[in-house]
Amino acid sequence: MNPGQISQSAGTVSLLGIPFDAHSSYLRGPALAPSRIREALYYGSSNLWTEDGMDLADAFHDAGDLVLPTDVTSVYPEIERVVRGTLALGYPLICLGGDHSITYPILRGFQDSFADITILHFDAHPDLYDDLDGPLSHACQFARIMENHLARRLVQVGIRTINGHQLEQAQKFGVEVITMRNLARLASLQLTGPLYISFDVDALDPAFAPGVSHYEAGGMSVREVLTIIQQLRVPIVGADIVEYNPTRYHQTQTAMVCGKVLKELTAAMLRRGNPPTEGWV
Ligand code: MN
Ligand code: MN
Repeated sequence: MNPGQISQSAGTVSLLGIPFDAHSSYLRGPALAPSRIREALYYGSSNLWTEDGMDLADAFHDAGDLVLPTDVTSVYPEIERVVRGTLALGYPLICLGGDHSITYPILRGFQDSFADITILHFDAHPDLYDDLDGPLSHACQFARIMENHLARRLVQVGIRTINGHQLEQAQKFGVEVITMRNLARLASLQLTGPLYISFDVDALDPAFAPGVSHYEAGGMSVREVLTIIQQLRVPIVGADIVEYNPTRYHQTQTAMVCGKVLKELTAAMLRRGNPPTEGWV
């Protein structure tokens, strides 16, 4: 085993920070997250190798943080424009939020490059409200995505807050909801590419990730999330990591969790649907 050879074949993934949290329904704070997640990725307490043997030291094309327009109505068109421009480089893209509302303009930016996207959405919440203090809340974006046909299929994992209205919405849009109560159903899920992964950090139990705005007990372990990501065998074209709120918890624990998920998402993208490296630990 020559680790240097694995490193050279790792490939490239783009990173884009989107420091926007004005559509949060409860607390601001996720706008501070992109720089914290980047720091965590490079902390000296860990390293840049993935669990399946890729060295990510040279894997990232960092497009920096999006500069937000001062007029809030210009924010979504700007996110869409910058996402489209970054995708034009030809690399898979991981966006670092930000509140979860940004997934809607991000997917608008993917629309020209990728038809028939499947979304794998990790969250405590379905985010399917037709309206919550307006149509653009971080609780509404998957209704907007499905109404605008930005995905062929939406699979939600980790859900544990669904109410009557959102159950109706899920049925209306044909959303496949895998609740925490029925997490075992994941095993029979057949996913196809191109796949987009939207990771709301509050899918995790607050015990694992206390830096979120909405504490919802009874969530996933970090290991459960990593196992799902590591077992994917489909091309992954994009992802976001959203809703980390550094103001809620001042240690680096949640940032490190985001950094870990970021590394394993990157590995899954760079495998391009193939199994992990033969012979690695
Ligand atoms: Mn969410
Ligand atoms: Mn959530």
